[in-house]
Amino acid sequence: MQSIFMPDAIYRYMLGASLRETAIQAKLRAETAKLTEAHYQIAPEEGQLLAFLVEMTGARRTLDIGTFTGYSALTVAQSLPDDGRVISFDINEQWTSQARAIWSEAGVADKIDLHIGPALDSLDKLLANGEGESFDFAFIDADKENYDAYYERCLRLVRRGGLIVVDNTLWRGRVADPGDRKHKTEAIRAFNAARLEDGRVTLCMLPVGDGVTLLRRR
Ligand code: CA
Repeated sequence: MQSIFMPDAIYRYMLGASLRETAIQAKLRAETAKLTEAHYQIAPEEGQLLAFLVEMTGARRTLDIGTFTGYSALTVAQSLPDDGRVISFDINEQWTSQARAIWSEAGVADKIDLHIGPALDSLDKLLANGEGESFDFAFIDADKENYDAYYERCLRLVRRGGLIVVDNTLWRGRVADPGDRKHKTEAIRAFNAARLEDGRVTLCMLPVGDGVTLLRRR
């Protein structure tokens, strides 16, 4: 999915002028584009934003909620130091087997722990294991109805100053259409409204990809 709030010609120019996608990222993106769920994949410029943020913040321990075919985990892993880690969560064996293959090919498989199963359970286990406040960065891009629940766990798992990045927060503009009362739209709209009033974080919403919100824990 490309940044959707930008005219095509300008979008193409922006990619040509700034995208530094590795060959393996491009390969994964091309393979994923063949899937029915291809739109689940983040835009390449959004991947580059994640990589930039990881590098800028010096993140080492990171969470990736919603693995899909592995683009965000691959991108973050490529930007982490050698001892950096991505813990990635998904329920789908098929997508994640594709992810595992590409991570191996990219030489980053040893930086990524994949947890198959409901992410809320896995996140609760991390908290129960005393891993609260031990993460530097989290990317949330899974089922929209659970965004608030994922966010609340991430807020306990990241340290003060840690970053939580949330995907699809502009939801193809549907959040701005008061007539759209679909569950996912309502969930994202409620999530966005709650974050504006959320004094635990500072925030910034960007029209990158399908809308991405950056939240930094105070
Ligand atoms: Ca997404």
